[in-house]
Amino acid sequence: TAGDRGFLAEEHKGEAESRPPVVTVMGHVDHGKTTLLDTLRKRSVAASEAGGITQRIGAYTVELDGQKITFIDTPGHEAFTAMRARGAQVTDIAVLVVAADDGVMPQTREAIAHARAAEVPIIVAINKIDKDGADPQMTRQSLSEEGVLADDWGGDIPMVEVSAKQNINLDGLLEILNLTAEMSELKAVREDDAAGIVLESTFDTTKGCLATLLVQRGTLKKGDWAVAGCNVCRVRLMQNDAGGEVLEASPSTAVQVTGFQDAPTAGDQFEVYKTAQEARAVADKREREMSRGPVGFAGLGSDSEQTMKLALILKTDAQGSIAAVKHMFSEVKDSKYVNLRWVLAAPGPITDSDIELASTCPQGQKVMVLGFNTNVSPTAERTAKERGVMIQNFNVIYELFDTVVAALEGELTQEEKLVEKGSALVKAIFKGRDGAVAGSEIIEGMFTVGNRVHAFRNGRKMGEGTIGSIRRFKEQVKEIDEGNECGLSITGFEDWQEGDEIRCFEVKMVSPELVSKK
Ligand code: GDP
Repeated sequence: TAGDRGFLAEEHKGEAESRPPVVTVMGHVDHGKTTLLDTLRKRSVAASEAGGITQRIGAYTVELDGQKITFIDTPGHEAFTAMRARGAQVTDIAVLVVAADDGVMPQTREAIAHARAAEVPIIVAINKIDKDGADPQMTRQSLSEEGVLADDWGGDIPMVEVSAKQNINLDGLLEILNLTAEMSELKAVREDDAAGIVLESTFDTTKGCLATLLVQRGTLKKGDWAVAGCNVCRVRLMQNDAGGEVLEASPSTAVQVTGFQDAPTAGDQFEVYKTAQEARAVADKREREMSRGPVGFAGLGSDSEQTMKLALILKTDAQGSIAAVKHMFSEVKDSKYVNLRWVLAAPGPITDSDIELASTCPQGQKVMVLGFNTNVSPTAERTAKERGVMIQNFNVIYELFDTVVAALEGELTQEEKLVEKGSALVKAIFKGRDGAVAGSEIIEGMFTVGNRVHAFRNGRKMGEGTIGSIRRFKEQVKEIDEGNECGLSITGFEDWQEGDEIRCFEVKMVSPELVSKK
């Protein structure tokens, strides 16, 4: 069941108690996600005496018909995707909003793929049934073509027809939500140190760093020492979704806390430690580990105490191929294959959005984008090179399998290769807002933002950095070529002198064994 997933399944001291479901609303833009969340929220506020001040903190819990439900209030499913790419399972149930006058649209398909990849139950809300031109039957039909078949059409996906705007049949939706939650038997231990996920973090000039935390197990208390990524937090002020101060937060509730020194990253997991020392030690250890390995595959199979997980993004020609590929791995019961994590498996070409998903994985987490009988869009290939994400495309399933196994066994390593792009001469130095700017003339080739540069003085290498920005006259440009003058801001090197030479390189990630096996 859904309650057994992830770390909720680990052993704990206390007894697991039932907890409210955490629900994400997904769907195509303008299909009514925000309206649905707003209407549900208003109903809940109207029903409770507390009412009054409400603020948006990334997630909120409503109590409707005596049942609590926590909604993740993030626009679209980008955050959902980013979190899952970090290994965080945020959601128990996905509500897919599809406008009845529009039917299945591109982001509807993406949402379906993401919900499936996360293996969370889907409930479809066919929205805008009040509208002229609404055609719920056509919507069901188009969903069934995506393999999303209504339970009353012989499938297993509950569908409800609603109007988020006119508040029609939201009771029906809530009923299904509660039923689905009940069947998932969602449980968490209450009496334990808290752990969960960072949903959002912002910086407030007076309060400092504000982070919204979703507690997934245990109870978060004021004064606790929490660690998210490499950031330590002494929980100082905790506010709930109504803006009120609270001293405790139980499983499936979100709170906004102050006390983080640096902003944690959305999608990071957090956990509470007994003492400040313990928390600091964990954060320090992570910091050391992170500063070790370069991007890509280097470090895979290293002697790190933790077993490395390999995150996979799989794109195929058809739904059936996904099953075939996954089946191949499930056949092998060897423990090393347990370290595979399917971040996404969906039909379609490899696109920029897959690379995006891959590059949201934290350092130290190995990730690979696999294609099977599909295409790689040219922009995806370029983006992958820039970000150091590995794409491997196959036509033969055994080759895919062998490559993934090689990656798991640490045989597939990826190295940086520098490809020279051009050179420039530093003619003057300026003070910019973010440090020194090298006023330069491009002597040869082309310079692009993000390229690596090496600084030379009288033929001796002085240091290196990355092109942070290029300014030509008053404008910021992405690239600049031969014969032009510009201001270069280099991240990592500022100690310029007139007459220095700058050599510019494109960084390519190459794998000795990486030949597209097409
Ligand atoms: P989102 O992009 O999915 O968050 O969509 P919004 O909630 O912002 O809704 C987009 C537009 O559709 C807005 O103008 C809403 O007022 C409208 N809308 C949302 N739900 C309904 C509905 O049930 N019926 C009608 N007629 N309009 C709706």
